Amino acid sequence: MTEFTMSTDADGVALIVWDTPGKSMNVMSIEGFHQLSTLVDAALADEAVNGIVLTSGKAGSFAGGMDLGVLAKMREDGGDDPAAGILDGVLQIHTILRKIERAGMDERNKGGKPIACALPGTALGIGFEIPLACHRIFAADNPKAKIGLPEIMVGIFPGAGGTTRLVRKLGAMAASPYLLEGKLSDPKKAKAAGLIDEVCEDPLAAAKAWVLAAKPADIVKPWDAKGYKMPGGAPYHPAGFMTFVGASAMVHGKTKGVYPAAKAMLSAVYEGALVPFDTALKIEARWFTSVLLNPSSAAMIRSLFLSKEALEKGANRPDVPPQQVRKLGVIGAGMMGAGIALVSAMAGIEVVLLDQSKAAADKGRDHTAAYMDKGIARRKTMPEQKEAALALITATDDYAALEGCDLIIEAVFEDPKIKAEVTAQVLCHAPQDCIFATNTSTLPISQLAKASNNPEQFIGIHFFSPVEKMALVEIIKGLATGARAVAKALDFVRQIRKTPIVVNDARFFYANRCIIPYINEGIRMVAEGVSPALIENAAKLVGMPLGPLQLVDETSIDLGVKIAKATRAAMDEAYPDGAVDEVIFWMADEGRLGRKAKAGFYDYDEAGKRGLLWDGLAAKYPAGPQPSLIDVQQRLLFVQALEAVRALEDGVLSDIREGDVGAILGWGFAPWSGGPFGWLDMLGTPYAAERSEALAQAHGARFACPDLLREMAEDGIGFYQRFGPARTAAA
Ligand code: NAD
Repeated sequence: MTEFTMSTDADGVALIVWDTPGKSMNVMSIEGFHQLSTLVDAALADEAVNGIVLTSGKAGSFAGGMDLGVLAKMREDGGDDPAAGILDGVLQIHTILRKIERAGMDERNKGGKPIACALPGTALGIGFEIPLACHRIFAADNPKAKIGLPEIMVGIFPGAGGTTRLVRKLGAMAASPYLLEGKLSDPKKAKAAGLIDEVCEDPLAAAKAWVLAAKPADIVKPWDAKGYKMPGGAPYHPAGFMTFVGASAMVHGKTKGVYPAAKAMLSAVYEGALVPFDTALKIEARWFTSVLLNPSSAAMIRSLFLSKEALEKGANRPDVPPQQVRKLGVIGAGMMGAGIALVSAMAGIEVVLLDQSKAAADKGRDHTAAYMDKGIARRKTMPEQKEAALALITATDDYAALEGCDLIIEAVFEDPKIKAEVTAQVLCHAPQDCIFATNTSTLPISQLAKASNNPEQFIGIHFFSPVEKMALVEIIKGLATGARAVAKALDFVRQIRKTPIVVNDARFFYANRCIIPYINEGIRMVAEGVSPALIENAAKLVGMPLGPLQLVDETSIDLGVKIAKATRAAMDEAYPDGAVDEVIFWMADEGRLGRKAKAGFYDYDEAGKRGLLWDGLAAKYPAGPQPSLIDVQQRLLFVQALEAVRALEDGVLSDIREGDVGAILGWGFAPWSGGPFGWLDMLGTPYAAERSEALAQAHGARFACPDLLREMAEDGIGFYQRFGPARTAAA
C-alpha cells in the first residue's frame, strides 16, 4: 500500500505527500515509516533536489497519530524478549527522524538540505513528532485544527523523540502542559507557544519558498548547534533545578504515583536534559519501552482509546437505519434538563425545553447563555456561537410545542407519579413514532415504561452531572425497549459527542450500582473508627479522583438519606446497609448535608471552599487500631469491582468494555487500571477470588466472591480472555 509519494518540481523542491489510502486522516504504519525513510534517502541523494517539503494529501489534517498495531508488532518482533523488540523498533524510528533532522549533514559533511513541513491542519502524536524533526513547521490558519502530543491521555508518552525535542525547543516548564497534560492547541496558539513556526494561508507555498531561501544555519537545530542552552535552564542550572523539583512534586501530586507514564516521562526529560541530544533520545526510548511493558498502559490504551472509540462508533448499535435526532423535547428545565438542552443545542439540534412555568423554562435556557458567556470571557467561544445555540432552544410551558419532536427526554423530579403524569401528557402531543426517554437515576425503566402505550419506544438515557462536563451517557433498556429506541439513543449520544454504554434495567443500572457501594464502604469505615483521613487518602493514592467522603459531600448527604430510605423500603429484610445509614442519618440530623450546606464530612469556609475533615467525626467514632493502607484500598476497589462482576453475571452489562469505559468516565474508577475488569485481570482472577473471600470473612458478605469470578479463577483465565471484544462480537 503506497502511503507516501514524492515528486520534484522545476525548482528542485521534492514534495513528499503522506496520504494513507482508505482513511480520512493519516495514521502511521510500519510500512509508512519505511516508505518515508526511502523517499527521504532518495531526495537527499538526488543532486537535483535542493530541499524537501513534507505534507499531507488529506484536506484539513496532517496526521492523527500512529496505528497501535506498530507497537504490537515491535513487541512480537522481540519474541521472548518483547522489551528488546520495542526498544529496537523505537530506535529505528528515531534513526529515521534524526536523518530528517540532520538532513544529510552526517553524510561526509555535505552541508545538508532544508526540510520543511506543511500542515494543512490537525497534527497529533507521531503526526506532530515528525514535524518536530523537520527544520521549519508551517501550518494553515485553520482554527479547527488541533496540534499536540496527546499520548499521556492513554497512558503512554511521546516516544518517537517528541518528548526530547519539545523540551529542547520550549524548555521543560513551557513543554509541560503539552507533555504532561496532553494539551492540544489550534495553529495560532501553537505558534504563540512556540510549537510551530508559521501560520499562513498557504503553508505549502510558504514551505516551498522557505526551503529555497534557507541558509545553512537555518537547517541546524538549536540543540545541534554549538553552545546550545536549554530554555529555562537544564537541571544543573539553578533555575532549571527549581523547575525539575517543582515538576516532580506537581506530577506526583497530580498522579499520586499511580500513572507510570507521567513518572517515566519526567525521568526521560530530567535524565535526557543532562546529556547530549542523541543520548537523550536513547534514554527516552528506554523509558518509553518500560512504560509500554507496564500493564497499566496496555489497559489504559485498551479502555480509553480502543474500547471508547469502538463504543462511540456504535459497537453495540442494533442494525437499524440511522436515527439522527432533528428536534429534541426536554421536559424539566432543572439542573439536568438545562444541561441536556445546552449540549444538544451546541451540537446543532433544535430543542424544546419545557417546564411547569415559562419562567422555569426560561431559567433553564439561561443556563446555556451563562455557559456560553463563560466561554466568551475565556475566548473559547465566539459570540455568534452563543446566539446560534440560544436560537435553537425554545423555552416553554406549552406541551403543544413538542409537535415534530423525534426524541423527548424527561428530566423532572425523581418521583414515579410525576414522571407518569408527564409521560401521559407528552404522549398526547408528541408524534406517534417519537422515542421517549427518561433521565431517572434510580427508578426502574420497565416500571416507568408502564405509563407509556408504546413501551418499545421507551428507554433510559441517563446523563451524569454536570452534563456539559461528563463524557458518559448510560443508555438503559427496559424489558420491552425496542431496537429503534436503542439506536436512537446511541445516535443522539453520538451527535452530542459523548460516550455511550448500553445496559439492561436493574436497581441503580450500572454506574450507580457500583458507586454507591464505594461511598458506603467509606462511610462504614468511619463507623468502624478508621481515620477519615486514611480513608480519603487511600482512595486518592489508588487513583480515585475523589475519596468516598468527599464524593458524598458533593452529591449531598440528604440525597444519600433519600436513596437509603427508598432502597430499604424496596429491599425490606434483605437491606444490607444499616451501619451506613446510622452515620448518614446522624450527619443529616446534625445539619451536615454536604458541600451545599457548607458542612459535611469536611468543613467548608463561607465561600464554600473545602477545608479539613470535620473533627466531629473523630469525637463520635473514636479511632481504634488502624488498618493498613493496602487493606483500605482493597476494600474500596474490591467493593466496586465485585459489583461490576455481579452486573455482568446478572446481564446488566453485556460487554465488559462498557463496564470498564463506563466506570472510568462515569465515576473515575482508577483510570490507570483500565477499569474494574482491567484491574481484576491485572491482579489475576485466582488472586482476586482469594482476596475477595478473605475480605468477605473479615468484613461481610458484600465481598463474597461471585460465582463467575470463582469459575474464572479455577480456570485461570481473565475477563478479557473470556469476554474480550472478539468474544463479544461473536456472541
Ligand atoms: P431539578 O429539581 O433540578 O429539576 C427538575 C425540574 O423538573 C424542575 O425545574 C421542575 O420545575 C421540573 N418539573 C417538575 N415537575 C414537572 C412537570 N410536571 N412538568 C414539567 N416540569 C416539571 O432535578 P434534576 O437534578 O435536574 O433531576 C432531574 C432528573 O434527573 C431526576 O429524575 C434525577 O433523578 C435525574 N438525575 C439527576 C442527576 C443529578 O445529579 N442531579 C443525575 C442524573 C440523573
